Amino acid sequence: MIDYHMHLVDDYHTERCPYTPERVEEYVRAAEAAGVDEIGVTDHCHRFVEFAPLFEPIYKGPRGRDPEVAWLKDNLYEPLDRYVEALVRAQQRGWPVKIGLEVDWFPGAEDVIRSILAPYPWDYVLGSVHFLGDWPLDVSAGYGWPDMDVAGVYAEYFTQLEAAARSGLYDVLAHPDLVKKFGHRADGAEAHYEAVVAAMAEAGVAMEISTAGLRCPARELYPAPAMLELAASRGVAVTFGSDAHDPQTVGQNMDKALTAARQAGITFLSTYEKRQRKLVPLPSG
Ligand SMILES: [Zn+2]
Ligand SMILES: [Zn+2]
Repeated sequence: MIDYHMHLVDDYHTERCPYTPERVEEYVRAAEAAGVDEIGVTDHCHRFVEFAPLFEPIYKGPRGRDPEVAWLKDNLYEPLDRYVEALVRAQQRGWPVKIGLEVDWFPGAEDVIRSILAPYPWDYVLGSVHFLGDWPLDVSAGYGWPDMDVAGVYAEYFTQLEAAARSGLYDVLAHPDLVKKFGHRADGAEAHYEAVVAAMAEAGVAMEISTAGLRCPARELYPAPAMLELAASRGVAVTFGSDAHDPQTVGQNMDKALTAARQAGITFLSTYEKRQRKLVPLPSG
């Protein structure tokens, strides 16, 4: 079993980050205790100074005074070198750790993102749609959502997810229907799955099954069962992720994610090394 989505600090951390093998070891030990054989660490790109050009237009823009957005500017200070080095050293100690990063999708920023990522030995890169334009849709139910047409948000979210799949930047799309996080539901959401799953199949991008949705008002895995079934029928590979922001959450609810995968007809999971995919049979149980 794998858990391929976790963060070494919480999102609002403003001290020097614990990017050390010792911090990674806490996650390794937590994974062992949870029955997870291999982890992938995927801190947010908005933690790293190299990504400042991507977020500057957002926190310097019209929403920049909102606390829901302003925190970004205090977040972009760690050098990627420190982070990657801690993970390389963890691997050198023989621990089952992959070097990952969770990278936001912004249309038009493909070349910027590609050049920031280029110097580092990633095992895989997670792609996430957290922002529609300058609006972070996953901060709270009260931020932005009351002014939005939910069906329109769904349509735009899945349009951006499809573009992310086709961008060539990502190995895996994280929490693929994050738009439901706060329980907003749009009639006919299923109509959007088809285009996204087709793009993922054509581009060879894997879909994450995320247990984070179970901790949110959505009270459901990401993705919804219908989206997962479609992915299975099109041969889209899957990974598993808890989106833990502390060691205690590593591997959480993976039994439920595995059950959902089996019910959808999935028989393999995908592991990554140096951005090469390897399919592994799903653990039995
Ligand atoms: Zn995310
Ligand atoms: Zn995450």
